[in-house]
Amino acid sequence: MKALSIHNLQKTYGNGFQALKGISLDVKEGDFFALLGPNGAGKSTTLGIVCSLVRKTGGKVSIFGVDIDDDFAKAKQLIGVVPQEFNFGVFEKVEDIVLTSAGYQGLTLKEARPRAEQLLRDLGLWDKRHAQARMLSGGMKRRLMIARALVHRPKLLILDEPTAGVDIELRRSMWSFMQEINRQGTTIILTTHYLEEAESLCRNIAIIDKGEIIKNTSMKALLAEL
Ligand code: ADP
Ligand code: ADP
Repeated sequence: MKALSIHNLQKTYGNGFQALKGISLDVKEGDFFALLGPNGAGKSTTLGIVCSLVRKTGGKVSIFGVDIDDDFAKAKQLIGVVPQEFNFGVFEKVEDIVLTSAGYQGLTLKEARPRAEQLLRDLGLWDKRHAQARMLSGGMKRRLMIARALVHRPKLLILDEPTAGVDIELRRSMWSFMQEINRQGTTIILTTHYLEEAESLCRNIAIIDKGEIIKNTSMKALLAEL
């Protein structure tokens, strides 16, 4: 089964800039996959389209066989997303953010509460559950976004630069958390510009540059070439 299938994906932004020039890519179920490439290559645009945050201008995307044009709601349920940037409202509390997201995904509060608790504990945020999200450190905000992305138990977790700006110790603990989630069966796709991060975590990679895929191979094969 393919967790993600992208065919001839194109994006031209409103200002006429062609960010994706017809890329094709498959990610297998259970994979830990990295989308690599320099700043401005088109990584966030690609993931934005997969999560339906960005409108594509051409091509096809399906998530576990569900075409995002046919059943956007179903596709959305299958995905958990951790965006690169996020803003929290003035009074939003940590636990409520996770519970609200669960609510959007159709979970009852009774179902959501124990899941939110488990995730916040696993991510070291339980003591902060009543804190205002806005006041958390950058690393905590990112872990909160991971809890929020996982509460509905998506089959595919998408992380855009998950450890950007995070110190080395926290980065390592986030790596082991992601590895554990992957071991439990969640397919993971992340973007990163740290090759070391992809090397430690990912089995397969694609490199994108100027809106085109210039390499799509296993991490092993890539390292053998370097
Ligand atoms: P679309 O063509 O998908 O409707 P737009 O061109 O309307 O997208 O831009 C969407 C948003 O992204 C706008 O708020 C715009 O200000 C912002 N934006 C514009 N240029 C850039 C850029 N180079 N990088 C990131 N964001 C941008
Ligand atoms: P990456 O995630 O690889 O850094 P992005 O997908 O964010 O790259 O951006 C790809 C290109 O598209 C960049 O040149 C960026 O400036 C441009 N871009 C991104 N968003 C917009 C937008 N809303 N409007 C116009 N150009 C954009």
